[in-house]
Amino acid sequence: MNVIFFGPPAAGKGTQAKIMQDRYGLRQLATGDMLRAEIAAGTDLGKKAKEIMDRGELVPDEVVIGMIAARIDSPECAAGVVFDGFPRTAAQAQALEDMLAQRGRKIDVVLELAVDQDRLVSRMEGRAKKEGRSDDNSEAFRNRLRQYNEYSAAVLPWYRAKMTVHRIDGTKAIDEVSADICGILEDKAAAAPARRGNI
Ligand code: AMP
Repeated sequence: MNVIFFGPPAAGKGTQAKIMQDRYGLRQLATGDMLRAEIAAGTDLGKKAKEIMDRGELVPDEVVIGMIAARIDSPECAAGVVFDGFPRTAAQAQALEDMLAQRGRKIDVVLELAVDQDRLVSRMEGRAKKEGRSDDNSEAFRNRLRQYNEYSAAVLPWYRAKMTVHRIDGTKAIDEVSADICGILEDKAAAAPARRGNI
């Protein structure tokens, strides 16, 4: 099963994607984490990406599409993928669709984690103290929210035209949000008889 997590920054996508990875053996592919790994490794790509990320803007489509393409055929992705923070633009969504179609696969579930703006800002402030991410400051965060609303949320109608987009209340406690997501994934798996018992 292949799942996409949409949601503004600090909505809890990474937390929930990890839980789904542990619970169902789906592989979390988080482009933000991959980019931070490039920065930590001091690669040229990381150096270029850092400037963009610190401003709270989007890294070019071809960079993130290339990172996903490089991982999608790995054995860990065989049972399915939780896409976390990808796609974030219409071009990325189309590239993902093509990439999966070429492999006889598709997106099975699209989830939108909804959290109101005030709460996002206070979560970001909490995370800034804990993790020290250089893009968790009010200016970069304002840009990240703007990019989400302008480019990423704009992809949702494209998915809605093809399939159900499940809107999840991301303001609930972490385990309540997980329970809501598991319910959706398990219903979906049950509706696909060939995969009954499996996610
Ligand atoms: P995240 O960890 O998902 O919040 O991503 C952190 C930053 O990495 C974003 O603000 C972007 O600058 C960059 N980034 C992550 N994923 C993407 C993507 N799919 N497209 C463009 N930029 C991305």
